Amino acid sequence: MSIDSIVPKARIGILALQGDFQEHAALLSKMGCATVNEVRLPKDLDYIDGLIIPGGESTTMSKLIENYDFRSSLIQFHGENKPIWGTCAGTIIIAKEAEGLDPWKPLDLIDISVQRNGYGRQLDSFQANLTIDKLKPQTPFAGIFIRAPKILSIGEKVETLSILGNNEPVAVKQKNVVATTFHPELTGDFRFHQLFLELVSDNLSAQVKET
Ligand code: GLN
Repeated sequence: MSIDSIVPKARIGILALQGDFQEHAALLSKMGCATVNEVRLPKDLDYIDGLIIPGGESTTMSKLIENYDFRSSLIQFHGENKPIWGTCAGTIIIAKEAEGLDPWKPLDLIDISVQRNGYGRQLDSFQANLTIDKLKPQTPFAGIFIRAPKILSIGEKVETLSILGNNEPVAVKQKNVVATTFHPELTGDFRFHQLFLELVSDNLSAQVKET
């Protein structure tokens, strides 16, 4: 499916409690995505077809999720099969287990366990060329890792989209949930966002067929 046909109808929301939600919004708007909403209250989820949970500080974001009463609404959004993509801190928020965020319980929207700041202080930030087979065109993608979480384990139903080095998953997917430990919104390269838009668009088409 071409980008032209999927961009107009997909309504994308970005959880805008904290972190780099504006960078995602800017990239999506540049791509021509007509509806890019900042999600600040649970009711804002009613007007979108797919949600991005951005990078930032998972400690702060988790507190705001509770303060703004987002937990059950996010779980419900996921239960309705609507696509969700977590980047960096967003990945920590949607994981099944998150080391270093105790006592907060992550949302358990994807069967992965992660460790906050898993690449250590000396590697607080780094860049790596990633191979991501699903991207079009299929050339290396610049992975920007900023105090990134490490994915320690993935469940049987989780698909690995990209690995770092020999065996560290850095982009994973389970049904309609995608998690990346790097920051595609900081590259200007919209191929990963395109992948997410396709997921949202396919999901919309599937819903239309069901009704
Ligand atoms: N280290 C941050 C955290 O634990 C994540 C960093 C990021 O999102 N770039 O929340």
